[in-house]
Amino acid sequence: MARRFKYIVLIMLLFLVNDAVVVAQQNKPNIIVILADDAGYADFEKYGDKEIPTPNINKLSEQGMRFTNAYVTASVCAPSRAGLLTGRYQQRFGFEHNPSNVLAPGVAMEDVGLDVKQKTIADYLKKEDYKTIAIGKWHLGTQDKYFPLHRGFDEFYGFKEGHRDFFKIQGDRADSFALYDNNHIVPEEKITYLTDMFTDRAVDFIDRNKDHPFFMYLAYNAVHTPLQAKESDLEKFGNVKDKDRRTYDAMLYAMDKGIGDVLAALKKNSIEKNTLIFFINDNGGATNNASDNGKLRGMKGSKWEGGIKVAFVMKWPNQIPAGQVYPLPVSTLDVIPTSLAAAGGATQQHNLDGVNLLPYLKNLSKTPHKDLFWRRGVAAAVRSGDWKLIRVETDPILLFNLKTDPEETANLATKYPCKVKTLLTKLSNWEKGLAKPRWYSFMGNENQIKKHRMEVVGRDSERKLP
Ligand code: CA
Repeated sequence: MARRFKYIVLIMLLFLVNDAVVVAQQNKPNIIVILADDAGYADFEKYGDKEIPTPNINKLSEQGMRFTNAYVTASVCAPSRAGLLTGRYQQRFGFEHNPSNVLAPGVAMEDVGLDVKQKTIADYLKKEDYKTIAIGKWHLGTQDKYFPLHRGFDEFYGFKEGHRDFFKIQGDRADSFALYDNNHIVPEEKITYLTDMFTDRAVDFIDRNKDHPFFMYLAYNAVHTPLQAKESDLEKFGNVKDKDRRTYDAMLYAMDKGIGDVLAALKKNSIEKNTLIFFINDNGGATNNASDNGKLRGMKGSKWEGGIKVAFVMKWPNQIPAGQVYPLPVSTLDVIPTSLAAAGGATQQHNLDGVNLLPYLKNLSKTPHKDLFWRRGVAAAVRSGDWKLIRVETDPILLFNLKTDPEETANLATKYPCKVKTLLTKLSNWEKGLAKPRWYSFMGNENQIKKHRMEVVGRDSERKLP
């Protein structure tokens, strides 16, 4: 009798464990990372814009948390994406510059891409039983070994390069600029408007995977150049006199509308509450796309706040406080640890550089990052608490207190030599863990050096130094 009782208890336990697995499976949140491209810090209503309606990005802020000191790991597209998608400072594996043909000794053209030894967020989440998709701009290598389908993604709908036309490309184009639907190239004549096509695929993927945890990397190439918008969107901005700015506004408006469609798809499938969404811009406003960085100094390509501080919103109902602003420094390096924690996965063994933000968002007494670092060739920077130091080759060191001087107007380096020394030491200690760049910027160093000079003041002067 006792033996039969034990047997029944054992079977009941097995059922319970099995149920727990099913419950855990259902509770794993879907995770969506929406990335904008080259937008200005102040081009979203919640970050100060008064010209472009962004009701859907607003909704993310209102239902989630908005960050006012969020940083990317690079002020240009590809290294920023390499940091975001690996959760590691991209200089650790030589991805310091945008892909180019200016190669380091011993490096071949086929080596230009995201080092295959590095795992991506999709690799990690696939291990947690997520369905994964990358949509939009890739920019992490054009060789087959770097193709998203070989980097942890079950599906890919996008293009390999760093930019392309939003409409169909007239005349010849290389395959790397083509729109890929997994392994197939979408005929160019079928391209309507890229932002809308990416949105449609995102909605389709949500519909198909509503019953299974999924990870979606939705990397719109809006609002990167070329400046191209649909007539119907341009009409909404007829009062904007500058033609480039009018087109830019219409492009950003189309992206916001796309985000609205994604939110509607989650709602329609009743998975809105169980979905963690990040909205992030990949680097500061570009010099060539009519973006608006507001009061921030500098633009894309620089270590000024206007190059590396970005719009960043997180929404996860009942898990992340709604409608609040988070003022402490966070990084795109935090996306993987936070996502893995949400998915119930372990983060410690992956050599990640970021932190799981979730515990930090509930109280402000502890900062997620004591120090954050940047380097791209001759220009490097460190932020430690309120202090930020910029080091550009042999130029005078720049030091700012971001609390009292968020616009970086007063160089305090000569006033605080001890602070300079401490921060330079932190920076060089961090650099000891980096690899040599595997390729260099085709633009050389001259612009980088010039754009970090104190005498370059004002947006017009900044725009002349891409
Ligand atoms: Ca970009």
